[in-house]
Amino acid sequence: MATESLTWVDQREQLLLAPYAMFSNQSRGRVHPETEHPYRGPFQRDRDRILHSSAYRRLSGKMQVFTGEMGDYHRTRLTHTQEVATVARTIGRALGLNEDLIEALALMHDIGHPPYGHAGEDALNECAADFGGFSHNQFALTIATELEFRYNEFSGLNLTHEVLAGQTCRIDKQKSGQRPLLEVQLVDAADSTTYDAHDTDDAIKLGLVTLEEMESLELVRESIAHVRQHYTALNEELMRKALVHRLIERQVTSLIANCGKEFQARDFSSYEDAMNSDFVLGHDAELNQQKQELERFLYARVYRHPNLVTVRQQAQQRLKEMFQRYCDAPELFPRKYQDRAEKIGVPRMAIEYIAGMTDRFCEDVHSAIVSQP
Ligand code: MG
Repeated sequence: MATESLTWVDQREQLLLAPYAMFSNQSRGRVHPETEHPYRGPFQRDRDRILHSSAYRRLSGKMQVFTGEMGDYHRTRLTHTQEVATVARTIGRALGLNEDLIEALALMHDIGHPPYGHAGEDALNECAADFGGFSHNQFALTIATELEFRYNEFSGLNLTHEVLAGQTCRIDKQKSGQRPLLEVQLVDAADSTTYDAHDTDDAIKLGLVTLEEMESLELVRESIAHVRQHYTALNEELMRKALVHRLIERQVTSLIANCGKEFQARDFSSYEDAMNSDFVLGHDAELNQQKQELERFLYARVYRHPNLVTVRQQAQQRLKEMFQRYCDAPELFPRKYQDRAEKIGVPRMAIEYIAGMTDRFCEDVHSAIVSQP
């Protein structure tokens, strides 16, 4: 193709991306067609639309694993998302994938999270059992296609097919026959890279587990040994930080090395070539096993820690009471939600309204409508 006929965005991608990346001019476009922007590619526009959405901003008030009362060191849903986007872009750039698409997918991946993390999701899922349940991945799609109001012409953000399809893959990873785009698989890997590292950091910092206890895990032991080769006298705090650094570095390096080798051997000529192959973007078997061991430990010793279990039960109770209260008294919905309540029904509206709340707003509303109605 003659370069004169290519836009600036296309020319840039021709220079920087590998043949197996998703190129902007290969996008299947948007539900509501729009003219191309003069200097922002379609995935860059998607990234910006997500960044400017209210659901994205509310991530700062939603917990990742640990609640706000536990301090201000640990990750929120927003800082987790930023870490995922950064890690994913680092890997994507090294592998020649489309960084704009990666960033859009990463910023979007958790926007559907309700208050109180997975505990909140489980409670809402129970409340919605009679009408299909609740999943944060599905809700992210509802937000992006229906609930955000930023344009006069349509509701939702009118994102590209690729970003919406990437989010759809998260709903049921087993369902689709074809593999997701490499950029989609990469964001998934970056999500797990990030939470394995930052949950280790936060859990030690909060005193839920000790560094010594975590040294029983192969990945942590190897990482600490690596740090000690370079630094002989780190105090405990610096060691924890060096460990987190090493955990991320180890996983990112492994992904780049493993995938780089595979890409060279397989010589994919397009994104479709990669999607139709049996290639799965991931770590080598040894690191996968080490990650599984770490994740089992985090699940048993951190996510199920007695301090967290109580907070989680209280939060779930709060959400269930609010759901019931809204179902009994739909006039409590703010005025602007009344139309939608009529359209989708009061119980679904209650789920959507609660799911959009930040943790603190949820507590305030609970006090106002349940504790002191
Ligand atoms: Mg995540």
